[in-house]
Amino acid sequence: MSNHRTDWISEEIAGLKEAGLFNVIRTIDSPMDARVKIDGRYLLNFCANNYLGLANHPRLRQAAQQGIDAYGVGPGAVRSIAGTMSLHIELEKRLAEFKRAAACITFQSGFTANLATIPALVGRDDVIFSDELNHASIIDGSRLSRATIVRYAHNDTADLRRKIEETTGYGRRLIITDGVFSMDGDIAPLDKICDIANEYDILLMVDDAHGEGVLGEGGRGIVDHFGLHGRVDVEVGTLSKAFGAVGGLVAGRQEIIDWLRQRGRPFLFSSAMTVPDVAACLEAVNVLQESTELVDKLWANAKLFREAMQSFGFDTGFSQTPIVPVMLGDAKLAQTFSRRLFEEGVFAMAIGYPTVPQGKARVRVMNSAAHSPDDLEEALAVFEKVGKELAVI
Ligand SMILES: *Cc1c(COP(=O)(O)O)cnc(C)c1O
Repeated sequence: MSNHRTDWISEEIAGLKEAGLFNVIRTIDSPMDARVKIDGRYLLNFCANNYLGLANHPRLRQAAQQGIDAYGVGPGAVRSIAGTMSLHIELEKRLAEFKRAAACITFQSGFTANLATIPALVGRDDVIFSDELNHASIIDGSRLSRATIVRYAHNDTADLRRKIEETTGYGRRLIITDGVFSMDGDIAPLDKICDIANEYDILLMVDDAHGEGVLGEGGRGIVDHFGLHGRVDVEVGTLSKAFGAVGGLVAGRQEIIDWLRQRGRPFLFSSAMTVPDVAACLEAVNVLQESTELVDKLWANAKLFREAMQSFGFDTGFSQTPIVPVMLGDAKLAQTFSRRLFEEGVFAMAIGYPTVPQGKARVRVMNSAAHSPDDLEEALAVFEKVGKELAVI
């Protein structure tokens, strides 16, 4: 039955469908792994942020089960009221150690970690310098803080410097950048940004969601990648990507972490990570600390994939990481490309506006250590076939 109060929503949805921007969400009937079961058949999975294949790793599965045996499933309430389980404290200690940071606090997700951190650091009289391609959770966290937001051109340190020089009369200042940009797979010039932050004495925050488990020694992240330990004030991260479970983290100076326990609203007003998530993430840290094997495999797979795609003649944009965008431009072409891949047994998502700018639609390929050489060979043959068929190459 139609209701005139929601007619506008039906019209918006019809418009999205018309423009090829309506997102149909697939149902997965298997664990997240190199192949996933969709509509009764197994497809090669190039959609997940499961960089290291930990989402269905036997050691994490076992750790989660043992965690439940010891602590049950739920945290009961927010930690500041009901107390905090030693398991969460242990994970925070181990994550700080792993990231070579002074201290760490966990959140329910990377998204809430940003919503907690930014408003705790800046307010109405303050200013945030934000890369124009920063993640939605950084944008939302920045808006929530009520600080003035000054966007600088993507990865453009000259523009950042110009914006800082031009912007006067505010109280506290904060620079925020993604570490790895999730739709392009390029890396922020964090070393240069760090120099600028030091020169102007501005707080610096990086969101390392796609860097954790990927960049740096054994996946220690972007701060380790550039050797900037102790120079970046605050690192936000996620346990929902390379770490294979779900959760968020903030690592950095002890006083910032202490402050977030007092003033981070998603910490104070939303329950903690669940027990199996925490237990699985603890095991993920163990796996990462024991060996660089998975991280090395991830990079080898990513290099092989990117180079083969380039040799076919695909435009892989600015990718420097396991995120490889196949740049197609037109949103409908990207959807057709993704649909044809799907029919040929490869699951890779078309991404269009508003996730990426208008006219920059793409199929985004997420490489993973979970893929075998055969998986990659099979997928590449499909990409080449569909690329030729649709006259992209
Ligand atoms: C994925 C992502 C997040 C959100 O992480 P979740 O744990 O999934 O909430 C935050 N920031 C960036 C840059 C991301 O890519």
